[in-house]
Amino acid sequence: MSVTEEIKSRLDIVDIVSDYLPLRKSGRSFSGFCPFHQNTRTPAFYVFPETQTWHCFGACAEGGDLFSFVMKKEGWDFKEALAKMAAKAGVELQPLKPVDKKKQAAEDKMAALLEAAADYFHMLFLHAPQAELARKYVGERALNEDTIATFKLGYALQSWDACRNHFHDQGYSDEELLAAGLLTENPDKGTRYDRFRNRLMIPIRDLNGRIAGFGARTLEKEGIPKYLNSPQTAVFDKSSLLYGLDGAKRHIREARQVVIVEGYMDVMQGWQAGFRNMVAQMGTALTGPQLQQLKRYTKRFVLALDADAAGQKATMRGLQVARETLDREVEVKFDARGLVQHEGRLQADIRIVTLPEGNDPDKIIREDPTQWPKLLEQAQPVVAYVIKMATRDLDMNDAKGKTAVAQQVLPLIKDIVDPVERDHYWQALARALRIDERALRQIKVQEKFTRPPNRQSRSAMSAQTRFQPGQPPPPPPPPEWEDSSPVKPGHIGQRRADGRLAAGMRQANYLSQCLHHPHIFNQVNQRLTQNQQPLVSAMDFTAVEDRLLLEQMVAWLQQGVVAPINELCDSLDEALNERVQSLLALPAAPESDLDRLADKLALSVLNWRQEKIGQLVGEVKQLFRTEQALENADSKEMYAKLNEWTLSVLSIHKAKSAMSAASRRKAEDSVR
Ligand SMILES: [Zn+2]
Repeated sequence: MSVTEEIKSRLDIVDIVSDYLPLRKSGRSFSGFCPFHQNTRTPAFYVFPETQTWHCFGACAEGGDLFSFVMKKEGWDFKEALAKMAAKAGVELQPLKPVDKKKQAAEDKMAALLEAAADYFHMLFLHAPQAELARKYVGERALNEDTIATFKLGYALQSWDACRNHFHDQGYSDEELLAAGLLTENPDKGTRYDRFRNRLMIPIRDLNGRIAGFGARTLEKEGIPKYLNSPQTAVFDKSSLLYGLDGAKRHIREARQVVIVEGYMDVMQGWQAGFRNMVAQMGTALTGPQLQQLKRYTKRFVLALDADAAGQKATMRGLQVARETLDREVEVKFDARGLVQHEGRLQADIRIVTLPEGNDPDKIIREDPTQWPKLLEQAQPVVAYVIKMATRDLDMNDAKGKTAVAQQVLPLIKDIVDPVERDHYWQALARALRIDERALRQIKVQEKFTRPPNRQSRSAMSAQTRFQPGQPPPPPPPPEWEDSSPVKPGHIGQRRADGRLAAGMRQANYLSQCLHHPHIFNQVNQRLTQNQQPLVSAMDFTAVEDRLLLEQMVAWLQQGVVAPINELCDSLDEALNERVQSLLALPAAPESDLDRLADKLALSVLNWRQEKIGQLVGEVKQLFRTEQALENADSKEMYAKLNEWTLSVLSIHKAKSAMSAASRRKAEDSVR
């Protein structure tokens, strides 16, 4: 994966754009007022999470990826945009720019201190006679040497100042130890002492494997709290950390699923047994930032929740489980409504599995590892889970009880973004309550929560039925044609599952051949002009590095530079250079066949343009299907665009036919 791809895979364009303008969900996309042109009446600017692209349907009529957005918005050049986005994504660029040396130095020193502390605790765990209880505890959990080393389990001595003295000797000050959360200060007396005493120390790492803090388990029978975490520090932020993610991320990608558990021990036990796609939440409710991080690796989340009676009762009470947790400082919250909203926003698939009473993943895996995957298979979607829990002990003769359950579950169903799925749960709830679906739809929901701003509970009507006289008529049906190209692009507006990939491959092939055979560039353009089609321009490309590369090639050709490609590459930015190298790795067409190559590439350009328009048409149609778009979007402008696109596609189609006929003739001539 190239640096830019890595960055794009880690960031969500919706989040990036949201930093600059408010976005509202409309259908599968998000809309807002275009930040690049005067546009206050109707939102013309759309962000598409599926393709991670943006497009302005108004005056700008342009779009691109997240890099082109921030470059345009901030006036950055590619280098700057790359550096900023890399920092945001946590991708290290070579070489690292010296940002703020002082701050960096302080952070490095804290990282070194935490690393040294983990080593110190680990050394005590392995060798100190006082750590006998800690070793016994870990032994009872059947964790082996390898697991102990991987997770660097440690032990903090039963002492008020052992840790403090140890690090004083190493040249660290009290202030530094306080900042790292290793010391605690009594605010009344001003006394300072070791925060962790007689505890099993579990280092908690950030996404990149750097130690951010510790979770510390008591070794005393009645010790309180059972788990004590590092306090909030510059690097320890419970709301964004997930235990085990640094080691699990690769496995999450491979398994295409992440399993979220509640305890550190669960993660370690899973790791040891080979279930390595597990992470533990940090004693707080799952947060947006945590889910966003996980979404970089998968869209499928399984939450393994301990079965406990209190939890289920709380689900009945208000769909919010608040309960005493490992760490008594915080409550774990299971907020079904929040999850459903996240699910829609992240376009994720969130499932829940309940563990058998009195079991946690640690115990289940330890006793019989084969049970674990079987349990995970039983995971249910959030809403199905809530329906099951809410109706489990319900007396089917109790009408009031049924209404109460419906009122609890309905807000959740209404939050589901996908209309088909939403309908599915209307039916499922009606079945579970054994009432008629029509009766269910009569129930008025007492909204205790504030609605998310972008969802109205109105019956979804089709775009067509909502037209009023005086409004522009619906767009003409799109033309249908058969495609003469080897690639079947489908009808206009139809979404191709592999459209992005196919277009990306064609763009890569085009660029690669132009790099291998610089003269091809002009020959392709010649064929396009002959058929009244626009020249290849930067805007034809999706990825920003391809746009820049095309601009660079045009500049070289205009300057008449004919140098070996490697020499040209040396003048490029590192990230562009990387792209060029990967393009040059694609096979070059034979020198003898350049005429035919130009024909093929010109056709290919037209194919991908046609596909791109098809995709945009698909998006607009999708927008028309959602009620939102009709309320907000300037439909006149959209219809004008649709017409314009229809004309372009017709013209592309005509050009393609003419070009195919021409190359057929040429082929026939050459045979004679
Ligand atoms: Zn615009």
